[in-house]
Amino acid sequence: MTDDTHGLAGLAAPFCSLTPDQIDAFARYRDLLIEWNGRFNLTAVTDPAQIDRRLFLDALRMVEPLRAVARPRTEGQPIRMVDIGTGAGFPGIALKIALPDLDVTLVEATGKKVQFLEAVIAGLSLDGIVAMHARAEEIGVLPRYRGAFDLVTARGVSSLAALFEMAAPLLRIGGVGLFPKGLDLDEELTVGRRAARMVGIGVEASDLIPDSETRLVVTRKTAETPPQYPRRPGMPAREPLGALVKPAARPATRHSGR
Ligand code: SAH
Repeated sequence: MTDDTHGLAGLAAPFCSLTPDQIDAFARYRDLLIEWNGRFNLTAVTDPAQIDRRLFLDALRMVEPLRAVARPRTEGQPIRMVDIGTGAGFPGIALKIALPDLDVTLVEATGKKVQFLEAVIAGLSLDGIVAMHARAEEIGVLPRYRGAFDLVTARGVSSLAALFEMAAPLLRIGGVGLFPKGLDLDEELTVGRRAARMVGIGVEASDLIPDSETRLVVTRKTAETPPQYPRRPGMPAREPLGALVKPAARPATRHSGR
């Protein structure tokens, strides 16, 4: 039975059509979010209508741009996507429900959120999706994940410069990144573009998504990421590539690591 009491299908219609099964899956996802939020603080968004508008619809607005730019490595294979800092599954699980053919890896640093992601994957009987309890910087140095993905997403996780350093190693050459961001982005983009060049990706667009308060930053990997990236966990956010760091703030040490 379709439970679309909140009218998600109608709200999503201008940019993404949903079948009754997909509406059901979103309804169950919404119920699990509300149930788990009572126990753990998963997301600040707790009201059902707000879950639809701010979490589901924001992710569904990425469906068209994703279709426009992302391609599998080999024709006929699924698009391999990694969602960095997915939190309670945004945009990763929402995109998986909308585009069931995606092969999705959710990466999340907080264990209790990973437990929730696993409960959603099981509760909605999703396949072709896994949740990893890890930091993006940790998997970016593993041969199994380096260059393995056609598409990277991340929402609300970090600055562009930090995201680019974490995302680029995971992408294959030609792979794309989709990063929803707020409207006031110019300064972050300036630093981000410098960081992008250092890790082998180019910024292709940063346009406003129609009828939203989101600019979608679209990147493409054009060159191999130098092996020193990503730096160790925490560094991409703490000392963003491309930022103008005062030399005096970084005393030289003989064993400074990377
Ligand atoms: N993308 C979700 C969650 C945003 S909150 C949304 O849009 O609602 C940011 C999340 O990123 C947190 O859950 C945090 O634990 C996770 N995170 C931050 N840095 C990370 C990293 N380097 N690797 C993996 N997860 C990270």
